[in-house]
Amino acid sequence: MDVITFGETMALFAPENGGLMKYASSYNRKFGGAESNVAIGLSRLGHNVGWISKVGNDELGKGMVAFIRGEGVDVSQVKVVEAPTGIYFKEIRNHSDVRVQYYRHGSAASTLTKADILDEYVSQAKYLHITGITPALSDSCYETVLHAMKKAKEIGVTIIFDPNLRKKLWSEEKARKVLLEIVSQSDIILPGVAEGEFLFGESDISTLGDKFLSHGAKLVIIKDGANGAHYFNEGEEGFVPAFKVEQVIDPVGAGDGFAAGFISGLLDQLSITDALTRANAVGAMVTQVSGDVEGLPDQNELLDFLKQDNEDVK
Ligand code: ATP
Repeated sequence: MDVITFGETMALFAPENGGLMKYASSYNRKFGGAESNVAIGLSRLGHNVGWISKVGNDELGKGMVAFIRGEGVDVSQVKVVEAPTGIYFKEIRNHSDVRVQYYRHGSAASTLTKADILDEYVSQAKYLHITGITPALSDSCYETVLHAMKKAKEIGVTIIFDPNLRKKLWSEEKARKVLLEIVSQSDIILPGVAEGEFLFGESDISTLGDKFLSHGAKLVIIKDGANGAHYFNEGEEGFVPAFKVEQVIDPVGAGDGFAAGFISGLLDQLSITDALTRANAVGAMVTQVSGDVEGLPDQNELLDFLKQDNEDVK
């Protein structure tokens, strides 16, 4: 196993013809969740990934597990419980005004507990991927995150943390406290600029890099949307520009694609800058297709995209 991740995936409904729900009578149904998005991204790039979660004993839960299994992700640790599978709606007014409505309170995945994360399973992995969404779901989910990180540290599994700030899920005060607590236990951190600002009240990217490093991280990658990504580790910092995208169709999921691309680069032992080029490419490719995971490339699509870009530059 290369990577293990855990968290909530929901059935995702989006108005078939775009726009707001008020006017929609038919919807496309997909599945989306930051952790399974990353798992699917890694699997498409040829890595072995496990996703731990809980789903409801309902049709959406069954469909979700079948879908994620079908993408080649190991779902052997997913449990079916007597609570509903969470759902959410995504309204795209335009690419810079995307609205998300959650119906996930008391969901199956919010009942995750420490007992759902088996040491034997985590110990098989090289990386444990954690997001800041899971600890916001419930007290037991928060405890599960801390437990999994403690175990990973004991076993020597590298922890990668994407803060994925979701202000709708908790108070700002609690979010800041818990996310900083997790930052201090992580090896590699993948925040966006806005998340760095939220956590440290600071907008200068170099200063943010230093703040994250002084909180205990070994490597910090700060995502800067259409600009690209900055990296910071002890004694080194740099920037890798994003790819030009002609038209952004759906920006949601770019960060998860970016994480998948970056972790894939680490697994293939690329340099940080080459891993970030792969991350930027996957992030850009995700924005060009509607849905959280539909734009994630397989290895050939990624190579074609990178080749195409080189040819454009020449
Ligand atoms: P998410 O909406 O998935 O939470 P995020 O806020 O975590 O995303 P972004 O900074 O928006 O992450 O995007 C992640 C990466 O995806 C960027 O660093 C960049 O590489 C790529 N990306 C995002 N938007 C664009 C764009 N418009 N053009 C090119 N690349 C993009």
